[in-house]
Amino acid sequence: MSSYKSPLLVLVVNCGSSSVKYSLLPVGGGAPIASGAAECLGLPEARLSIKLNGVKIVEDLKGGAHEAALSAIFAHLQTEGFLRYIAAVGHRVVQGGERFSESVVVTPEVLADLEKLTPLAPLLHPANMLGIRLCMKSFPMAPQVVVFDTAFHQTLPPAAYTYAIPRALQREHGLRRYGFHGTSHRYVSGKAARMLGLDPDNHGLVIAHLGNGSSATAVLNGRSIDTTMGLTPLEGLVMGTRSGDIDFGAAAYIARVAGLDMAGVDDMLNKKSGLLGISELSSDCRTLENAADEGHEGALLALDVFVHRLARCIGGLATSLPRFDALVFTGGIGENSGRIRAATLRRLEVFGFTLDDEANREMVGGRGGRIDADFGPAALVVPTDEESVIARDAAALAHLSDLDVFAAQRRAAV
Ligand code: AMP
Repeated sequence: MSSYKSPLLVLVVNCGSSSVKYSLLPVGGGAPIASGAAECLGLPEARLSIKLNGVKIVEDLKGGAHEAALSAIFAHLQTEGFLRYIAAVGHRVVQGGERFSESVVVTPEVLADLEKLTPLAPLLHPANMLGIRLCMKSFPMAPQVVVFDTAFHQTLPPAAYTYAIPRALQREHGLRRYGFHGTSHRYVSGKAARMLGLDPDNHGLVIAHLGNGSSATAVLNGRSIDTTMGLTPLEGLVMGTRSGDIDFGAAAYIARVAGLDMAGVDDMLNKKSGLLGISELSSDCRTLENAADEGHEGALLALDVFVHRLARCIGGLATSLPRFDALVFTGGIGENSGRIRAATLRRLEVFGFTLDDEANREMVGGRGGRIDADFGPAALVVPTDEESVIARDAAALAHLSDLDVFAAQRRAAV
């Protein structure tokens, strides 16, 4: 056991359908003290990887699912002496529907409202709920705070969130566009506006969050007003394994020619399409860039389609803004791929974007800053930090003040 003496900590938990990710952050900010991920849950290869003091530990979960993963995580936190300092738990929840436009503390009423949202995200939501319930059981004294992927987009106007289908479906089943990656878009847009010294009440940004999942959002004065993802995270940009926008007629055609039912088509468009489907090689952008350098035809086409769709969506989002001050890249691809950024800015010349090649090469591996050549709209890289936003929301809603931290430090020092 380590002799850890800490101020208060927030545990951030992200329960996916077959994974659990966590990180432990100090209240008041700072780098994670511990983090890890359990993957392949429910399968024979289920395992937990933990990063602690720069050392990686991998534990076989012996086919266990979420409960086994969280028990193993809590056991590690206990061994390291962290458990008693956890003052709040922040949960990433994918879907908050129209009910939740900001983060909330879990109460019996909130829990009941959350349960009602399962039909909108039938795969992920039950896993999110399980994570909340298991943490409530293990940390009965710590407030549980829920931070929604959709909440930041609740400011979308009806014109941007309404599908052109019979309105009864929206009234009766909540069928509308919600948008996702809201925690990242919120953090990155705030940080970009501060980095550029923009007037908080008069600026317009497009944020391109590009990772395994990708979405772009138009942000006006800190509020999301248009975004590329819809009812589910399938809509919009080309992603690692997701198709993004596709003609529904094409989906119906796939069902006929491939002999698939709705669930089969859904699975194909979510898990076998995107960069993977086009390249017939990989869903991973870095792998595709290396293959493209070797002349791999599928990789070259996949990257071209990715950039084409991205530029087209950014152009569309720009028309929702009264002014376009900056395009901001974030996410694993946005933060690291100079190639994708350069190709995208070239496609957006119509807006007056320019590129500083050297700055573009330098902005990798967590470095943020401008990559434009100082005229036209700004283009910049801002590394995202969803965990710190979740931790901050959790600490604020749990009313953990500097005084609590100070008192905890004093107790730990005795
Ligand atoms: P994320 O889902 O945000 O973790 O992003 C994962 C994506 O970022 C994968 O497609 C990675 O290949 C991509 N990525 C990470 N580093 C690089 C890099 N140096 N160059 C290109 N793509 C990268």
